[in-house]
Amino acid sequence: MASPQQLLVAGGGIGGLAAALACARQGWQVRVFERAAAFSEVGAGVQLGPNVVRLLQAWDLGPALQAVAAFPERLRVRDAASGQLLATLDLAAMRARYGAPYATIHRADLLALLHQAVAPLADVALTLNRRVLGYEDDGRRVLLRTGGKAVEGDALLGADGLWSGVRAQLLGDGAPRLTGHLAYRALLPQAALPAALRSTEVTAWLGPRLHLVSYPVRAGEALNVVAFVHGLPPGGRQGATPDALADWDHATNAADLQAAMAGCAAPLQALVQAVPAWRLWVLADRPPLRAATEQARGRVALLGDAAHPMRPYLAQGAGMAIEDAEALGRALRQAETAGIEVPLLLARYALERWQRNARVQARALRNGRIFHATGLVRWGRNLSLRLLGERLLDMPWLYGLNSEKT
Ligand code: FAD
Repeated sequence: MASPQQLLVAGGGIGGLAAALACARQGWQVRVFERAAAFSEVGAGVQLGPNVVRLLQAWDLGPALQAVAAFPERLRVRDAASGQLLATLDLAAMRARYGAPYATIHRADLLALLHQAVAPLADVALTLNRRVLGYEDDGRRVLLRTGGKAVEGDALLGADGLWSGVRAQLLGDGAPRLTGHLAYRALLPQAALPAALRSTEVTAWLGPRLHLVSYPVRAGEALNVVAFVHGLPPGGRQGATPDALADWDHATNAADLQAAMAGCAAPLQALVQAVPAWRLWVLADRPPLRAATEQARGRVALLGDAAHPMRPYLAQGAGMAIEDAEALGRALRQAETAGIEVPLLLARYALERWQRNARVQARALRNGRIFHATGLVRWGRNLSLRLLGERLLDMPWLYGLNSEKT
């Protein structure tokens, strides 16, 4: 029997660890190189649609997810200015409709579940404190240059996030773009909140040039709150370098956000005022993918934010990274069974994924325009939500069985 093939992975975030798990399950040896000193995530939450939870369950992570995630029963959409309820979506019904629940989870808990699944695997080697510097693809092998010695593999996966160095070398298509939107994030122990502000549901407040989303995480013990407002970091677009933007994930003055929310309904303002400290995040993205060759070339493929960084307005960035991982695992399985060359398998992976990723990127962009609408568009949005409700909020094309393969 042929010896297992080797996949090198740049980046050990949600996407990199999900890919390590999916590909090791298909018989590949995987080496992950993460530049940070630990596998860690920022203190914030992430929503996972049934399309993603289904994959985690298929990887036998269902019980671990059940222990740490929350499973909200309802989404409520409100107008941020009037406080009026516009529409609801029955999230509890997704278990029956889509074969898996809608989950909300602390990012560190999601990363920890993936880490606990891959760390014991004999075929996965995880290396911390190792920055990927570049690679050479000579057609037969990939040579990866890292902070330590060079390593060789059959394929390289760039799972190194928004500012991906692997993408820069593979596509040379410049830096991500600043969206002009800022995210203020906070995590609050529910027990410390007044009863009226505690919540077991997902709530979205849509306002002019802003919106706010809250949902439970940590099995319901904490409330994740994220507010999106239009604005740029000081220095405007000149600040758009990875280091300058990384500095922007810092504790920030709550007064800035309170001022931006000044015209909002009283219950929303009460929630914002209950947050003692926010972390500020500058949002950047790329336009939707235009071809499969933007997700894989030769022996190198991209996954997650390295391939398709998107606005978080469909709550699917991490979800698409996990879907990518599953598709990559399935594609690579055929290396041994069908004896197909690695570049062809990676091309097949990219072909399967790029259109769905582009669709999700485009829909997230559109959602941002709708969520932050002003004037007549806002009026039309509110009317449509009141009239059509669930029919607008539910997305079988996104959540449905086998949707990830379309
Ligand atoms: P990353 O998480 O960026 O991981 C990349 C990893 O690579 C990092 O660990 C980094 O240290 C490492 N790395 C980088 N360069 C190198 C190098 N040269 N060498 C070695 N290692 C390197 N998604 C959802 O699904 N649902 C949500 O509700 C949701 N909400 C969001 C809210 C906000 C405000 C934001 C900003 C995003 C949200 N997302 C959401 C999107 C989601 O966070 C990302 O899509 C996801 O984290 C991407 O994972 P990744 O592994 O591709 O990239």
